[in-house]
Amino acid sequence: MRTQVAIIGGGPSGLLLSQILHLKGIQSVVLERKSRNYVLGRIRAGVLEQGLVDMLHVVKVGKRMEKEGQIHHGFDIAFQGKRHQIDLTALTNGKSVMVYGQTEVTRDLYEARDQMNGVVIDEVDDVSLHKLDTATPFVTYKKAGENFRLDCDFVAGCDGFHGVSRGSIPSHILKEYEKVYPFGWLGVLSETPPVSHELIYNQSDKGFALCSMRNANLSRYYVQCSLEEDVNNWSDDRFWEELKSRLPKETAETLITGPSIEKSIAPLRSFVAEPLSYGRLFLAGDAAHIVPPTGAKGLNLAASDIHYLSEAFIEFYGTGRETKLSQYSDTALKRIWKAMRFSWWMTMLLHHFPENEGFGDRMQQTDLEYLFSSKAAQTSLAENYVGLPY
Ligand SMILES: Cc1cc2nc3c(=O)[nH]c(=O)nc-3n(C[C@H](O)[C@H](O)[C@H](O)COP(=O)(O)OP(=O)(O)OC[C@H]3O[C@@H](n4cnc5c(N)ncnc54)[C@H](O)[C@@H]3O)c2cc1C
Repeated sequence: MRTQVAIIGGGPSGLLLSQILHLKGIQSVVLERKSRNYVLGRIRAGVLEQGLVDMLHVVKVGKRMEKEGQIHHGFDIAFQGKRHQIDLTALTNGKSVMVYGQTEVTRDLYEARDQMNGVVIDEVDDVSLHKLDTATPFVTYKKAGENFRLDCDFVAGCDGFHGVSRGSIPSHILKEYEKVYPFGWLGVLSETPPVSHELIYNQSDKGFALCSMRNANLSRYYVQCSLEEDVNNWSDDRFWEELKSRLPKETAETLITGPSIEKSIAPLRSFVAEPLSYGRLFLAGDAAHIVPPTGAKGLNLAASDIHYLSEAFIEFYGTGRETKLSQYSDTALKRIWKAMRFSWWMTMLLHHFPENEGFGDRMQQTDLEYLFSSKAAQTSLAENYVGLPY
């Protein structure tokens, strides 16, 4: 089989890229390791920047989001028992974010690819990339025990943190930067109305907590936890008690609890691999970088990578020029590092760091007090939260 762009990974990065390329008349084939049901069952991000919302409209997958997504004009930060509002819209000249689950974005993208006869091959094994430093790269894989070869002009590595693409760049070329945080997030999804119509980020002595949501009857809550925690030791009752103990009293009193429909622990890390390209291979999304979820940047960064990468492919197939392809890594990395800084800063601001006691705690407290007292500080937070321009 032959295609123009072989896309490894059928998560949001890979599907969005294939949808954009299709609309510009560029062929692609998506190879996905898992089944479609598995991909659609993953509970992940939920806050979309305006840039991603606009992209989804442009590529004709925005209809359901328009109907079911919730526009949020701000969020709260709770500190020392009091909630402080960050008015995103007032601070950014009218911008906002959209609450619409990554699961739904992925479902909409799959549906669009199906309607346009896009080729997404799922449940593939042993994906391997070959001759990436030549003009004739190819990909081999197995499907149902049979071996296949996919010839292409380019390979887009959209296969997440544990994929094969990043590891296909020789180690003497690839540089990795990483910070692992000494805690994780224990998350619960429940079919209960959210405690607030907007997100609440809670800083407390017992640790961070986040009150988030997917829709009017689907709430997503998180508490910071030790990396040694076992999710099986967390009954629903224990989770709700722990969450309530970290919220302001009036908020805890109005929290509606119910049985969890998903419960998991995710570690927090910041990670960037450089460069994002090697020969005919281009990395995008979690294959190249990971942010801690504080600040809701993971999915949004994947989308901005795909914006730059798709522009580069469109230039190449439209004009034969490789200018944007050769600049892709530098261009995308500039925005990636800014989102890294922002997610790291929000993580440091809101979590309890056991080693911080003393000076570190006072710095954190002062940083928060400064934020609540300074419009300039809030503006900086707001412009990063709604998303820096592409
Ligand atoms: C548990 C969890 C919670 C998260 N919560 C948030 C959040 O609250 N807010 C936020 O902004 N971000 C969050 N994120 C991050 C966000 O979900 C990711 O940034 C986003 O999914 C990136 O999309 P992607 O397509 O680049 O990667 P992925 O979504 O990881 O997709 C990669 C795809 O490649 C496939 N694949 C992997 N290896 C291979 C292979 N060898 N061959 C073929 N296919 C392969 C995978 O099965 C997967 O479908 C979370 C991530 C996780 C893991």
